[in-house]
Amino acid sequence: MEIQFVGKRALVTGAGKGIGREVAKRLVELGADTVALSRTQSDLDSLKAEVPAITTVQCDLQDWDRTREILQTVGDIDLLVNNAGVSRIDKFLDVKKEDLDWMIDINYKAVFNVGQVIAKSMVERKKGGAIVNISSAASLQGLDDHAVYCSTKAAVDKLTHVMALELGQYKIRVNAVNPTVVLTEMGKMAWSDPVKADPMLARIPIGRFVEMSEVVDSIMFLLSDKATMIHGVTLPVEGGLLTT
Ligand code: NAP
Repeated sequence: MEIQFVGKRALVTGAGKGIGREVAKRLVELGADTVALSRTQSDLDSLKAEVPAITTVQCDLQDWDRTREILQTVGDIDLLVNNAGVSRIDKFLDVKKEDLDWMIDINYKAVFNVGQVIAKSMVERKKGGAIVNISSAASLQGLDDHAVYCSTKAAVDKLTHVMALELGQYKIRVNAVNPTVVLTEMGKMAWSDPVKADPMLARIPIGRFVEMSEVVDSIMFLLSDKATMIHGVTLPVEGGLLTT
């Protein structure tokens, strides 16, 4: 199955590191004119050095109004990957308000904000589009120490459903992918300790965590014209974890 995005323009949030960076690189490989948005300028500089064809945009998605101003400068977008996300783990009883606000702002409100601005411009252009929100298998599980993270990702799932419901009429497809652990910086922070990792691995029928390329493949499929009737799904990429 060959996927290509020649003639398409793509925007990836949180493209400085981890999954977002690999998504942005793959989109360029597959022909998309790609805008990589992230918070840390040095990450964007190293991405630009690695992939000169990419356009980079520095933006702190926690700033709602500034994000909207910056998005006015990125031009027409056909493909959006709402990838930026953060995690800080703590017991429910100990979560601080600043951490709650931070995770809600980036994991949920930024998906809403970027999705709203980009979908509005897609509606105006009348050419349709495809949006993939990066959720998590954690949206469907209760994970120790992840009260805020799990609940923000559950909110992303439900937002994906309603966006799909309302935007389908404009030929804008909206889906989510829900991976389990990928050993990015975020994944290592929560899952490097074998005391936590081993019981999680034991629950995954395939017997391992997810490779970055496996998440990127699923995102490319959902963005592509191989998925033209796939709309409003939250796609687990978790080796069967959620069956257990
Ligand atoms: P990561 O390696 O920590 O990368 C996250 C990226 O998002 C970084 O480039 C980061 O930039 C950017 N970002 C964070 N806050 C931002 C802000 N305020 N404004 C702009 N960009 C911001 O994380 P990852 O593991 O690749 O995660 C990517 C997505 O996958 C997230 O939505 C995450 O919840 C989801 N996910 C991850 C896993 C996993 O196990 N890794 C599993 C399921 C789902 P800075 O570093 O400059 O802040």
